[in-house]
Amino acid sequence: MPESFIYIILFIFGAATGSFLNALIYRVHENKLKTMLAGRSYCPKCKKSISSKDLIPIISYLLLKGKCRHCKKKISKSYPLTELATALIFVISYVNLPQSFTNTTNLTYLIITLIFFSIIIFTFVYDLKYMEVADSVLLPGIIFAALATIHPLTPTIFSALIGATIIFGFFFLQILISKGRWIGGGDLRIAVFMGLMLGWPLALSGLVISYLIGSIISIFLLIVNRNCKMKTAIPFAPFLSIGTFLTYFYGAAITGWYLSHTGLIN
Ligand SMILES: [Zn+2]
Repeated sequence: MPESFIYIILFIFGAATGSFLNALIYRVHENKLKTMLAGRSYCPKCKKSISSKDLIPIISYLLLKGKCRHCKKKISKSYPLTELATALIFVISYVNLPQSFTNTTNLTYLIITLIFFSIIIFTFVYDLKYMEVADSVLLPGIIFAALATIHPLTPTIFSALIGATIIFGFFFLQILISKGRWIGGGDLRIAVFMGLMLGWPLALSGLVISYLIGSIISIFLLIVNRNCKMKTAIPFAPFLSIGTFLTYFYGAAITGWYLSHTGLIN
């Protein structure tokens, strides 16, 4: 199979998964998970059901110029953006595979990676939209991440547990010191998921990168938006998601670059 063909298939599959995640995010929040299989997708504003020709990921949004066919109200940009991001991350997951695709070990590793990032994308969007963490997806995700350690290419269970303990401990201390003002209990669950997924020592790199991104964006927001006070709650899960993404795929390269530029190694 030519490489470009695999990219296209993964992009389409990723866009479709992104579309599924959008529906899941909405239904988990509305507590309508049971209607997920039976119910049709409908416009959250006029409640009219959406026909299948308007459900093509990314493309339908562009053809409809971002408006509902019936009520003409704006469709949130988060829908096509989630679809696009999922599609790109699915392609990136393949590009960053350790070896060749033909090998069963690599194929199963790719599938594990796609599931990991579907959960990360879900958590990212859900937290941005509703400022909370959805346990109905994150708790099964934690169990999955623990089971995935039996795969030869993922961190060992020992490494995963050290990773989870370190991030969990660091967050737990912050909650104790700040009495829950800096970060919330939901972030603890993300910490465990992230730690299991990255293992030791990548979990520590992921934490540092998340804080760097979080600080840069918070300072930027404080400068741009003067109404945004130091106390304004900024959801932390999106930074953890970006940090996990960068570390999972580029952690070894980033750590190597840092160590060589600070003269710690040649
Ligand atoms: Zn509508």
